Amino acid sequence: MTATSWVEGAEAGPFDLEHLPYGVFSTAKDPAPRIGVRIGDQVLDLRGLATGTFFLPWIRPAFHEQALNGFMAMGPPAWRLVRHQLMELLADRRYRDQSATLLTPIAKARMHLPFNVADYVDFYASEEHAANLGRLFRPDSEPLLPNWKHLPVGYHGRAGTVVPSGTPIVRPRGQRKAKDGPLEFGPSARLDIETEVGFVVGVGTELGTPVSVDDFAEHVFGVVLVNDWSARDIQAWEYVPLGPFLGKSFATSIGHWVTPLDALAAAKAPAPVQDPAPLGYLQETDRFGYDLEMAVRWNGTEVSRPPFAGMYWTPAQMLAHLTVNGASLRTGDLFASGTVSGPEPAQRGSFLELTWGGKEPVTVGEGETRSFLEDGDTVVIEATAPGAEGGRIGLGEVSGTILPAKD
Ligand code: MN
Repeated sequence: MTATSWVEGAEAGPFDLEHLPYGVFSTAKDPAPRIGVRIGDQVLDLRGLATGTFFLPWIRPAFHEQALNGFMAMGPPAWRLVRHQLMELLADRRYRDQSATLLTPIAKARMHLPFNVADYVDFYASEEHAANLGRLFRPDSEPLLPNWKHLPVGYHGRAGTVVPSGTPIVRPRGQRKAKDGPLEFGPSARLDIETEVGFVVGVGTELGTPVSVDDFAEHVFGVVLVNDWSARDIQAWEYVPLGPFLGKSFATSIGHWVTPLDALAAAKAPAPVQDPAPLGYLQETDRFGYDLEMAVRWNGTEVSRPPFAGMYWTPAQMLAHLTVNGASLRTGDLFASGTVSGPEPAQRGSFLELTWGGKEPVTVGEGETRSFLEDGDTVVIEATAPGAEGGRIGLGEVSGTILPAKD
């Protein structure tokens, strides 16, 4: 069945009735952050709905919170019930008059972080990205390190510096040392992006209890786009032997809208066959990724279109691996895929790869050339995915502008 919404402009498109992503917004008139659902160019106020009898009594308290965590912790039965109710409300014209007062035009909504980020984990799941970085950083050895095809490589990031789309990014300062160069301190001269997809944990686990690779949908609430800003010069000097640190932790941007997994049912796609076969705990009964077509705009110019469907490690494998040692999950944990890069040069998800270490600059905006980010530059990451009935939904974009370093 194809249902359409009574909300004008929401018939088909990135935020139609089949999408319904959740976010947290406020307005000038009512500055208290509250949960909303996006429909077309409007936000439906779920706190407003929860003050009436629309939701079941046990659901209502979650929509009086200022973040999605309470709702996400309720698990798949609550997620499905609410999504079903919202679809009905926004499709059935009989609800139109009583619900129209709960709509805010997106232009008047101030968007906040959609959920309180508990822990942040970042992976390295694209074979093309890992191989490109291997060629750039270790030109004389095999592009992939020996562990790469046996486990999804990752590290723990900094949850406290995850910021919502639109937050200005202050250029980080730090130590850097080029090969055979002097030790220097100052603003990063190789500031970069990482085009990523993030997965948001709803249902936590007890310490000591791994999550099966087949239980992904029991724990993961939804998806956000991620820009994992990276200072390559700081990173290159500091990362041996313990991995990424200050070159990454200064800021990570996420989209305003969390797309529920159920909205991506039509976007499920077979993931690449793995050779060698991974250990048993990483073998899925139903192995799939998501067919998200991503796009990167640098000062308005589209410079890359990374395809998420080709990722070697799936989100379910990432979740199984990050808990296999018994590490617990908490509501609000965010794990990101790592840079999404495809096999073609125009599919590379970082500027380090796109400009091949800065040696092949690209043209952006009004005919300016760039190797890495300059102050004032803006990067926007977008993605679309197949929706129900042959349509396409659009994930909430993630955008950021670079500000000069501070003394
Ligand atoms: Mn990253």
